[in-house]
Amino acid sequence: MFSSARYIPSIFVKRDALQFTFFLTSRCNARCPFCFYWQDRHSQRDELTLDEIERFSATMGNLLWLLFSGGEIFLRKDLTRIVQAFYRNTRPVIITLPTNGMAPDLIALRVEEIAAQCPRSAIVCKISLDGVGEEHDHLRDTPGNFDRAMETWERLRTLAERYDNLQIGINTVFCQENQDRMDEIIDFVDTLPGCETHTISMIRGNPAAADYKHIDLEKYKRAIDRLDLELKGEKPKMYHFTMARLKSAQDLVQRQLIYRTMRQSRRLLPCYAGRITAVMNEVGDVFPCEILLDAMGNIREFDYDFRKLFHSEQADRVRAKIHRSRCYCSHECYFVTNILFNPLMYGQVAGRYLQLAGKGTKVAR
Ligand code: SF4
Ligand code: SF4
Repeated sequence: MFSSARYIPSIFVKRDALQFTFFLTSRCNARCPFCFYWQDRHSQRDELTLDEIERFSATMGNLLWLLFSGGEIFLRKDLTRIVQAFYRNTRPVIITLPTNGMAPDLIALRVEEIAAQCPRSAIVCKISLDGVGEEHDHLRDTPGNFDRAMETWERLRTLAERYDNLQIGINTVFCQENQDRMDEIIDFVDTLPGCETHTISMIRGNPAAADYKHIDLEKYKRAIDRLDLELKGEKPKMYHFTMARLKSAQDLVQRQLIYRTMRQSRRLLPCYAGRITAVMNEVGDVFPCEILLDAMGNIREFDYDFRKLFHSEQADRVRAKIHRSRCYCSHECYFVTNILFNPLMYGQVAGRYLQLAGKGTKVAR
């Protein structure tokens, strides 16, 4: 696997993006009412082409974590070639591929191609599951989604037996509609063979169905407490890539920190968004994070030179604004980097790490 040790200097000097989220497309074959992406951002401009992606990825330097997003990323016909371009140019330690699981054959085909062609990266494929059975379909307003997601799960589980770099998991969006069903969802995910992670993401953005955001934070706390208990228990779900236990320890710290942040309505940690993280949408606009819509620039206007854009005056202005504004959010991705690259958090992470010592990192499939 590519080494994560090369990112240690970024604990002290934060100059370049090591976590990159790329919204590949705003197209989607589902219609989730809580989606913050396809509804209000469906763009009339052209998606970046493979050639454009090849060009800018060659200017990025190495990445610790490459996260694709959308839209449904598997709708891009050139997905494998896009991932290959990043693999060659940025040598990511972890590549995350989220999916709604609506197209089992296509997803299995692409994931196998990617796992085979990117052997030195941990390929993490996560299926969205927000309810069990018809609840899931109803919540996502997408008939048949649950059955297809389960078919996709079975296909990926079989693949994960053959590709050691492939790891599979579930993500659940916590929202008003399912906050009373978290136990049922967690119980169900516990029965899924081969599941190496179950994450619960608090709903974010400005969904058209605003009601979905009326969540009860104490119900969120109960759900994450249960995930924490499971992680410390006899049969924890845990990735099997190098440093997976450290990742799990950070998860334990992160979930409770997100709860406290939202409870206190303020940022409790420095945020490194725009310093070691960057987000790009499908037409090349670059942002510091997924929440703030202050663009640092568009890659097409910087001759596809990512570093030039990331170190531009406009990018500096955006970073300064983040520093001044002390905005806060619950976005899990930024808690990952804000914890792992902040030495003041290491005591807490080490404590959790010791609690997990001796826990297995490979689940039965
Ligand atoms: S599957 Fe994802 S991108 Fe598609 S509508 Fe649902 S939340 Fe949005
Ligand atoms: S606190 Fe959240 S919204 Fe603010 S810059 Fe960081 S990630 Fe973005």
